[in-house]
This record gives sequence, C-alpha cells and structure tokens, in this order.
Amino acid sequence: MRSPIPDYLLEVLDSCGEDGGAVADYIPELAAADPDRFGICVATVDGTIYTAGDADVEFTIQSMSKPFTYAIALADRGIDALNERVGVEPSGEAFNEISVERGTGRPKNAMINAGALLTHSLVDGDDSAAQSERVRAGFSRFAGRDLVVDEQAFVSELASAHRNLGMAHLLKAAKTLDCDPVEIVRGYTRQCSVKVSCQDLAIMAATLANAGVHPLTHETLLSRPVVRQVLSVMMTCGMYDAAGDWMTDVGIPAKSGVSGGVIGALPGQVGIAVFSPRLDSHGSSVRGVEAFERLSRDMGMHLMDVAQEGRSALRGAYVTEGDDPMTVYEVQGDLRFAGAETIVRAIAEGEHETRRVALDLTRVYRLHDVGRRMLLESVRRLGEDGLEVVLVDPECALPEAADVGSERLTVVDSLADGTAST
Ligand code: GLN
Repeated sequence: MRSPIPDYLLEVLDSCGEDGGAVADYIPELAAADPDRFGICVATVDGTIYTAGDADVEFTIQSMSKPFTYAIALADRGIDALNERVGVEPSGEAFNEISVERGTGRPKNAMINAGALLTHSLVDGDDSAAQSERVRAGFSRFAGRDLVVDEQAFVSELASAHRNLGMAHLLKAAKTLDCDPVEIVRGYTRQCSVKVSCQDLAIMAATLANAGVHPLTHETLLSRPVVRQVLSVMMTCGMYDAAGDWMTDVGIPAKSGVSGGVIGALPGQVGIAVFSPRLDSHGSSVRGVEAFERLSRDMGMHLMDVAQEGRSALRGAYVTEGDDPMTVYEVQGDLRFAGAETIVRAIAEGEHETRRVALDLTRVYRLHDVGRRMLLESVRRLGEDGLEVVLVDPECALPEAADVGSERLTVVDSLADGTAST
C-alpha cells in the first residue's frame, strides 16, 4: 500500500491558497525569495519523514533558530541561570520589541530578539566566534547533517542590524549582557543566517518532540527538563503577538521566522516545518500559519485536545488456571499519573482470592516517575496485606522493586516463570 500521508500533505498545500502577505524585503537575500515556494515536512518521533512540495529548498533559519539556541544555552548553563537573565513571559508584542525589564534588565523571553541576543551570549565558548560556531554545530546535530551559514545573507543582515545593535547596547547598559554588544549581534546574526530546508527543520523540531532524543541518530541531545522549558516558551511566546490566537487555533509549540518558515513540535508525536515566504503583519508565513491550522484541525494535533489517556493502561485482569492460581494485572503503554491510577485502583478494588498477585509489565513502554512510585507503593502494600507479589518485568522497567523490602516479592522475566517458580 502507498502511504496516504504524503498525498494528504499535498492536499494541505493545495488547499492553502491564501496568497496575501508580502515577502520580507529588508535585505536583498530575503527580498529575492520566490514567493510561490511552498513546502511541508512532517517528521515523526520514530524517524519517518513525510514531505510535499518544496521541502528541500533552503532558506535562512532566522527566528526559528531561537528555540534551538535557547536549548543549547539552557544545557550549557542550567535552567536557573537562564531564568535569571531571560524571562519566560509572553510579550504580546512584535519580535523586535525593545524588551528590558525595569530593575532586572531581563528581556521578556528568549523568542523575541532581545531575549535571543542575550541567550546567544550565554552559550558556552571562549569568545564570540567560538559561541557562534557552537551554535552552528549544535543546529547541525539537531538536523543530523552539517549546516552552513549563508554568508551573503549574514553580511546584508549585519549591515542592517541597527535595531538589534541598539537592543544589545541597552542590555549591556542594563548589565544583563556581559559581553561586547557588537560581537553578540554578529553572533546572533550568524545564527539567523544558517541555511536549512523544511526537512532539516522538521527533524530539528522532532528532536524537541522526542524529549531531546534525535529521531534518526537516537542520540540524546537534550535533557527532558531543558526540552520542557523550550517547548513551554515556544508555546507561550513563539508566535509573538499572535500567541493567543495560535494557542487556541493550533495548540502546537511553534516558532516562525521572517524567511517564511514555521516550525512546530508536538510532544511525543511529530516535528513539523512549513515554508512559504509571504508574511502576515506579525512576520509569520501566511500559508505556513494556514497549513498549521489545517494540520491541527484534521489530525487532532491540538495540545489541549487530549482524551482520557489513562484508560488503556490496564490491558486486562484475570486469574490464572491451575492448583495455585494467580491474579494477574496486565499493564501497558506509557504510564503517567492517570494510567498508574487506573492500575492502582484496579488492584485496590481487587478481591484477591488467590494467594499470589502478579503485575505484568511486559507491555509497559515507559514508566514516568509518578507511575513508578505508584506501582512500587502498590507492590509494598500488597506485601503488607500478606500477598505474594510476582513482578513480571523483562525490560527492568521497575528496578527499584527489589528495594521495597518485601520478602514476598519475586521478579521474573515472563508470566510462565512466575507461574512455575513460587
Ligand atoms: N534576523 C531577524 C532579526 O533578528 C530575524 C527576525 C525573525 O525571523 N523574526 O531581525
């Protein structure tokens, strides 16, 4: 069978006919973009890439670089250190708002230029050139290929960076920026000039959607707390003064750039990138926004549109046959609070007319910390109630079980082992 997904993506491109808006023209390299280009790429967290249209056309990353530099700086310095210098509040204003908080000197957030300049200055590196290279190399790791700077776009952009220079000087005067303002604008402008395609951006976004693990190389590039911070700030601040509309209509953490790209990272599912150079009044791609609205609507991608996720955690509960039967609880999936609560409730309400109770974790895909603690406590309490607990845990999802101090616990690799051995 031919996958219907690329056909669907083509249909999305066809349906986004809106041709309003205008290509950014403040530098010749952006003004020269073909306004009719339209590409889309969806990268799943398990590394499947779907594209349609101009998905491999290259353009400068511009403001879509901001979440990735923020991620690098967060990883280098730690979340607290970043929070001291850059806020996490939506500005409700344009990307180039002059944002220096009275008293603290902090810019509102890392998705607007003031915050992005400061963020760039917090990336590790002995000097500005080293920081800039660290950013480029970091982007390349997220994309899974070596990305290069569009030198011509960089030179033009730097020559017209008066507002960014003004902001960097203000940040320096406010003492939030430690280094040379001119050098920081230079580094930030190089960061904005890295060339990418929709496919690169979708893979980069999929790394964020995949909790920091690259979907193709499987390398862990970011820690979960860093990813959570980046996605949260993208969600609340990524679309500048359209953040509220975006949240309600689309509901995907996102970031746009003046070159006409929009990226989105839907946690646990996909990274998405759309490219179409004509921009709306907020500086975001007109057809890019439209395509995201359609994807979100058609594919149920809104973050706030979640069904009862805990319901499927209990795959089944039954009593085995034989002389010494066991009550078995089969657990499955990705266990957060709601899923674990379903299991704990089933066990708490169980009659347990058998002397042994088995918790079969064979089909558990991931145990969140809360799920782990709730299952451990259940194992302990079952032991206290005088029941023998058989933990079927072939993937070692609950290694701490051995420490709960119950002599009544046996850990086995398969239910068959458990039936035989105790
Ligand atoms: N390089 C641009 C700037 O800093 C990026 C702006 C954007 O993409 N919104 O002004």
